[in-house]
Amino acid sequence: EPELAGDFAVLMEWADKHRRMRVRTNAETPDDCRMARQFGAEGIGLCRTEHMFFDANRISAVRQMILADDEKGRRAALEKLLPEQRKDFREIFEVMAGLPCTIRLLDPPLHEFLPHGDEEFEELANASGVGIDHLKRRAGELHEFNPMLGHRGCRLGITFPEIYEMQARAIFEAACEVAKDSGEAPVPEIMIPLVATKRELQLLKALVDKVAGEVFEETGCPVEYLVGTMIELPRAALMAGEIAEEGAFFSFGTNDLTQTTLGVSRDDAGRFLSAYVDKGIFPRDPFVSLDIDGVGQLVELAAERGRATRPGIKLGICGEHGGDPASIGFCEKVGLDYVSASPYRVPIARLAAAQASLK
Ligand code: PEP
Ligand code: MG
Repeated sequence: EPELAGDFAVLMEWADKHRRMRVRTNAETPDDCRMARQFGAEGIGLCRTEHMFFDANRISAVRQMILADDEKGRRAALEKLLPEQRKDFREIFEVMAGLPCTIRLLDPPLHEFLPHGDEEFEELANASGVGIDHLKRRAGELHEFNPMLGHRGCRLGITFPEIYEMQARAIFEAACEVAKDSGEAPVPEIMIPLVATKRELQLLKALVDKVAGEVFEETGCPVEYLVGTMIELPRAALMAGEIAEEGAFFSFGTNDLTQTTLGVSRDDAGRFLSAYVDKGIFPRDPFVSLDIDGVGQLVELAAERGRATRPGIKLGICGEHGGDPASIGFCEKVGLDYVSASPYRVPIARLAAAQASLK
């Protein structure tokens, strides 16, 4: 098991004494959470719940849900997932032992869940009892040419609220179980992805609050929780003052914010960005090291506008830049409360955050 030891551990302790920002991790499995804690992570900054859906049975359940005809069909398809998600969250809460956990509700591009090819349609027809022609027609209606700018993030939660309802229920039920067993209640921070408008967050926060109320009444075990949002679209950054009326925290999703601000696909950028860096158009790859002049301005402006509405609003960053030393220096200047990095980058983030504080 990797662990910080000897002189390295001592150095990190010294660094921690000077560090203002907290360092969290991006993790969604108990093993990654455990490893990140050994590296010094002080919470989860981003649990990407779509990464919990790689298993074929789960993909099939989500497929059935999105292709179902009505709410009843959607709820039936999701029934099997509730106990599985409850277990996922329970294990994470147990490992994190009371540290803050930001759990992001599902954010996959929809095409990752649509069936492709006759075989997958046949399998789905057998599993769901719905005819192949019907399934193909429905999949055709949901097809998108540009899924990364399409029906993803909170847009899924708006059109298929049942999926966010199931996830919120699983989170609260898991938190209640852990609170009862360990005596220490986790404080889930439920995060809504790809928000562009206050109304999106308002609708989805209301849904989460409704589910929380139901679960607390059923279990007799209320827990504290927060609902907040990713800031990963330029519109959200500009409207941060209004969005902060609904969100208790912001986490900057600088991967998507870079993609949408520069108008450069995060999936294909490698094809020309190295030439751009060579020619000095960008000082560094903006998907690796934050484009401080452009994207950074949006981060700063959103932080200011968010604070003006809600003084003390909790601010973090969970894009790849949260583990990049130069970007971490910028986060310190903006006054973010924490950075969140993948487990192996937690130590460098601790050092960089300390250096930024000292500077
Ligand atoms: C982001 O967009 O920066 C982010 C953290 O979310 P994801 O990478 O999952 O889109
Ligand atoms: Mg994103």
